Amino acid sequence: MLGSFVAAGTFRVDRLPRPGESLRASAIAWEPGGKGFNVAAGLRRLGIAVDGLIPIGTDHLAALAEPALRRMGLPTSMIRPHPGSTGIGVGFVGTDGENCLAVHPGANLLLSRETVRSAAAGILSSAMVLAQFEIGDDPVAEAFAIARGAGIPTLLNPSPFRLPSDEILAATTILVLNETEAEALLGRLAGPAGTGGLRAAAEGLARALHARGVEVLVITFGAAGARIVLGGSTILDQRAYQVTAVDTLGAGDAFTAGLAAGFVAGRHWDASGRIAAACGALMVTRHGVLDGLPDPAEVGDFLRI
Ligand code: ADP
Repeated sequence: MLGSFVAAGTFRVDRLPRPGESLRASAIAWEPGGKGFNVAAGLRRLGIAVDGLIPIGTDHLAALAEPALRRMGLPTSMIRPHPGSTGIGVGFVGTDGENCLAVHPGANLLLSRETVRSAAAGILSSAMVLAQFEIGDDPVAEAFAIARGAGIPTLLNPSPFRLPSDEILAATTILVLNETEAEALLGRLAGPAGTGGLRAAAEGLARALHARGVEVLVITFGAAGARIVLGGSTILDQRAYQVTAVDTLGAGDAFTAGLAAGFVAGRHWDASGRIAAACGALMVTRHGVLDGLPDPAEVGDFLRI
């Protein structure tokens, strides 16, 4: 797992604030997070051994990392301090469970190709290498090139969205996007979605990505499920399980952890998709991210209902 670590503050509000509006929050929760940390924690909760690089700064927020990794059963040797500020995020969650957030990456952007190269042995002994875009392009490109060169699958969630470079796409096995990210990528690679919407445009996008090296495209549609496109052409639709959402923060991270856990356990894509959707669904029924990450028994019980 490459990056990221973010000290995340979440304000609970009746509804999301509109531009120019000040709202009173009914609660605030501080929690260690960051997409890299969340997915690493999600994988660990699912029983998968995790290693990697977690960048932190040298400010007071850096002290949150070690207990956070310990709490989630992750090796503290993953922590890599860099001079400057630790990543920080601020989000809002409305009573309907909808959320929005902004993240300042801080030290996460300082993770370098050299640091990744120094961890090459770890990469080469992995079953899968995962990254998101709360870190820079260089460490992702380096780690994915090392992994792909050795036949190790890679998974990228380009969030917060920026256009993945050709170098990164060429070394990406599995690309996981939510609707916003898929729309942005579609606009850049294949033109805007037609009248059939994003779901219909997924195959064209998967073809364009497959030509660039991506083997599997996964687009998540929140409560409307997910579409998995294998090899640029074979479509698997994974429905979302019906639950009452109280907090949608972290749904995508839980989904990604479930998908990767299924994949490294050698499951077929449809089984991995079901595990992923169960993880996403269980996550949205719970407040907070880390406490919401399900374990294998919870996923098993959920899928038997
Ligand atoms: P992100 O958090 O990255 O925006 P999504 O909102 O698309 O990701 O959610 C990821 C996955 O989590 C969905 O494909 C779905 O399986 C599950 N999920 C998200 N929201 C809900 C919901 N309200 N009910 C059931 N499952 C959900």
